[in-house]
Amino acid sequence: DNLENNRFRLHFQPIRDAEGEILHYEALVRMMDENGDLLYPAVFIPLAEKYNLMPEIDKLVLKNTLEILKQDKNLKVFMNLSGESLGRCELMEWIGSSIIASGIDPGQIGFEITETTAIRNLETAKEWIIKLKEAGCGFALDDFGVGFSSFSYLDTLSVDYLKIDGSFIKNLDSDTTKFTLVQAINTAAHTLGKKTIAEFVENEAVWRILHELKVDYGQGYYLGKPKPMEVQ
Ligand code: C2E
Ligand code: MG
Ligand code: MG
Repeated sequence: DNLENNRFRLHFQPIRDAEGEILHYEALVRMMDENGDLLYPAVFIPLAEKYNLMPEIDKLVLKNTLEILKQDKNLKVFMNLSGESLGRCELMEWIGSSIIASGIDPGQIGFEITETTAIRNLETAKEWIIKLKEAGCGFALDDFGVGFSSFSYLDTLSVDYLKIDGSFIKNLDSDTTKFTLVQAINTAAHTLGKKTIAEFVENEAVWRILHELKVDYGQGYYLGKPKPMEVQ
């Protein structure tokens, strides 16, 4: 019932380069409750996961994103994929055929899966990253570093971007341990030929340190809050 399209909202947050130019946007899902208040993923995703509704949410995000991309050929959007969707072959194939049917340039769309999801479903993740990249779409590994498993599997995942988890970026201006960790992650990512995106860039001091560390891109409240596309 909560999945009715009229309850469903998408916000878009920009990812910027060091000059402030927009690389692409990330689509972030919200739900409208009975009172017209917005509900955030932290509230409804645990429930949606419990009732196996994440694939339905991911499908709605793709449908709505494709409609927006059709109207602006210069727009690029990355969307999140849940682990459950990744495990459903017919859904992943539906994603591929929907992109083709929409007539958009496949380079206008990209996908994010979390590091944790990728490790948990390594073979499936590898396979779908390759297929969607062959189709021309972008790919990012989300929330990187929290699993802190190892870098060894990273070169087996052919993602374009590695998104350094927000917990390492927040307070980067006051925490030297975090500075060292971000430096290590960034160097490893670059060595493997991946571009890096820092999440949770919340102030100018952090953004400046990220330049110093040569992190490629940033995303966060300081660089632009998630908003509906029409008011960007
Ligand atoms: P994520 O993909 O890592 O998205 C980034 C989250 O960080 C978003 O939270 C965003 O609003 C928030 N954020 C952005 N900048 C800042 C900042 O400067 N400071 C802080 N503290 N937070 C910032 P949001 O929208 O609540 O989404 C939370 C998570 O829910 C996402 O994390 C993603 O894993 C999941 N999610 C969101 N939309 C979708 C979707 O359409 N499909 C799937 N499968 N998952 C989604
Ligand atoms: Mg994401
Ligand atoms: Mg993230």
